[in-house]
Amino acid sequence: MIRNPSSVAVIGSGISGAVCASILARGGVSVTVFESGRGPGGRMSQRRETTEDGKELLFDHGAPYFSVEHSDEVMSVVSSWESRGLVAEWKEKFGCFDRSTAKFLDFKKEGTSKKYVGVPGMNAICKALCYEPGVEAKFGTIVAKVDMLQDRGLWLLSGLDGQVLGQFDGIVATDKNISSPRFTGLTGRLPPLDISLSPELAVMMQDIPVRSCFVVMLAFSEPLSSIPVKGFSFKSSEVLSWAFCDSSKPGRNHIPPNSECWVLHSTAEYAASVIARTGLRKLSNETLAKVAQELFQEFLASGLNIPQPFFMKAHRWGSAFPVAAAIGGDDNCLWDETKKLAICGDFCASPNVEGAILSGMRAASKFLGSMSSL
Ligand SMILES: Cc1cc2nc3c(=O)[nH]c(=O)nc-3n(C[C@H](O)[C@H](O)[C@H](O)COP(=O)(O)OP(=O)(O)OC[C@H]3O[C@@H](n4cnc5c(N)ncnc54)[C@H](O)[C@@H]3O)c2cc1C
Repeated sequence: MIRNPSSVAVIGSGISGAVCASILARGGVSVTVFESGRGPGGRMSQRRETTEDGKELLFDHGAPYFSVEHSDEVMSVVSSWESRGLVAEWKEKFGCFDRSTAKFLDFKKEGTSKKYVGVPGMNAICKALCYEPGVEAKFGTIVAKVDMLQDRGLWLLSGLDGQVLGQFDGIVATDKNISSPRFTGLTGRLPPLDISLSPELAVMMQDIPVRSCFVVMLAFSEPLSSIPVKGFSFKSSEVLSWAFCDSSKPGRNHIPPNSECWVLHSTAEYAASVIARTGLRKLSNETLAKVAQELFQEFLASGLNIPQPFFMKAHRWGSAFPVAAAIGGDDNCLWDETKKLAICGDFCASPNVEGAILSGMRAASKFLGSMSSL
């Protein structure tokens, strides 16, 4: 029996899940979003930090911006967010810094396509979509198990300690680690979210390789005026891949006056070398402090006349980028029509925000299409 998916659980409030949830809700579906994190955004989150003397700082510590280069469909959605004030173009100058010559290269190289940012933080889009009418969002809630009540064709979701989270006609899962061991706050590992009920999809989800990345968030009490751009990639650095002046983005009015906030991204090779030493368990504050120092030292070694920051903290993204993305093929998502199970996320389309948006849109269309064909 094919059921009308009138209630759908979306697991994950990253951009793919948030987009999917909002389209489903607009199509008349009752949607519940479950998110293990404290707030929405996933890899488009914003991090709140407080300095020792009580200053509040906010950093886009995941994706610093996104571009839309391939999909008109995604572009039209992004334009609608722009008109709602949820995103804005980041119009600053970008460049590439050659670590071996200590010189900036062609300024135009990194600045060809429009760069969009969420306003006032990268999480603004997911936040708005998760609070749209018809969407109920539950943060700090890990979905640990999904079962099917075969006699009724309903999905039963349970939390970490076995508590029932709800019954739903359909589910959308947005995490690539869905059928493999994952992280938790305590031990560094979450139990696998088992989708063996849909064996064909489970096989496709196996062993999607990922690249890791460390970021360090820095706050300075003066502008870094020796740097002629607000974002740049590094050439010939084994440690740093990018540096972004977070506070130069539009709508960042929360930054203390005269201060500048920067976020540095490590290379995948540097991240892999740290993880080879530490494993993927939760990192100690000591290890994170050492990583922060190493990334900052490389920034200093650029010779760009960098002052001491008044705030510095590192964060690890264990699964920053899926390497073998696009397992969704032409559909840009995975879909089991009989079970009303969709899987979406950047790993189904392309390893960036544009890919994740497209994948979320496609997963929602699968559900809505299956409703209209009844
Ligand atoms: C450091 C960094 C830099 C980046 N730079 C760029 C860039 O410049 N441009 C660009 O386009 N993209 C960039 N990206 C990639 C971009 O952020 C991702 O492609 C995109 O955000 C992925 O969205 P998603 O919805 O597919 O996944 P995610 O954002 O990972 O969302 C998945 C969500 O599911 C939640 N979740 C997982 N399992 C469970 C569970 N069992 N129960 C409840 N919740 C669960 C997670 O907490 C997470 O919030 C960057 C990413 C990182 C980390």
